[in-house]
Amino acid sequence: MTAQTDRMGEANAKSAAWDLIGSLFWESGRTTAKPSDEEIGLFLDGVAAGARCTVVGASTKDLVEKLLERGAEVTVLDFSTRMCDDLRAALPPGSCQVLRHDITRPAPEGLRATQDFVLNDRLVNRFGADEAQAGVTGMLDLLAPGGQLRASVKLGLYPMDERMIAAGRERGTLAEFYQPEAKVIDFAAAGEVLTDALLPHGAISPDLLLQWYRGRGREKRFDHQDVIALVSGAAVDGRALRLVSSTEFGQAPQTRMYTAEAVADGRDV
Ligand code: SAM
Repeated sequence: MTAQTDRMGEANAKSAAWDLIGSLFWESGRTTAKPSDEEIGLFLDGVAAGARCTVVGASTKDLVEKLLERGAEVTVLDFSTRMCDDLRAALPPGSCQVLRHDITRPAPEGLRATQDFVLNDRLVNRFGADEAQAGVTGMLDLLAPGGQLRASVKLGLYPMDERMIAAGRERGTLAEFYQPEAKVIDFAAAGEVLTDALLPHGAISPDLLLQWYRGRGREKRFDHQDVIALVSGAAVDGRALRLVSSTEFGQAPQTRMYTAEAVADGRDV
């Protein structure tokens, strides 16, 4: 790997979980984990040919393909080597730049403050609390002034979280893996509860699913106010985010598209 393509710095241990999955996500995963055509329409709204767009998450392949069809100048950032390799292999050679990069870290030098759009589908749901703030800040770091962040976020608990919480309560082990006030679930600490509460994810095998969840570790669950706080907490190099809209996300329950614009940071003045 060249210095140009390795933007990882210190390793983020969660990337190993995604290295287990790669193209299985779009080949065999649950359809509802991916944005529907209608939802992709929200991401694409007003994106013109030549627009500089970064998709964070190589798993969001359908969106990348639609952006390329529009003639956008697309960069994909992902912290997993396998996700990057599998996406490169699935796209026409040279159609877009796919870089290994952890979005919770400062943006790659050449991309900082250059992008018209930064797009990601339910990536924020994969973060713990501190990671979420660092991730949104990393997204802002990519945006040119006036550029837009479009991030979909599932609000509340996932059905599997609910099963795990119910099982943890029953067995008296809930405190080992769930912090109710912070709404943080730790898949790595849930032990047998995770095994027993596991729900299918398309045709991905249960053994692989278990390893994937364990490797995902801590994830925060959000309500609308939590997302507003994340947006208003992001500041980098004299830029901040101003929330433009939050829109119900088509067919996915309790999922919203948050659109925010990069503006001069009033707090710096
Ligand atoms: N619903 C999504 C979809 O349709 O693709 C899946 C959620 S999210 C976008 C998953 C992707 O984000 C994976 O490819 C994973 O490797 C990547 N990812 C997770 N955390 C990341 C991070 N900190 N930095 C960069 N990529 C990350």
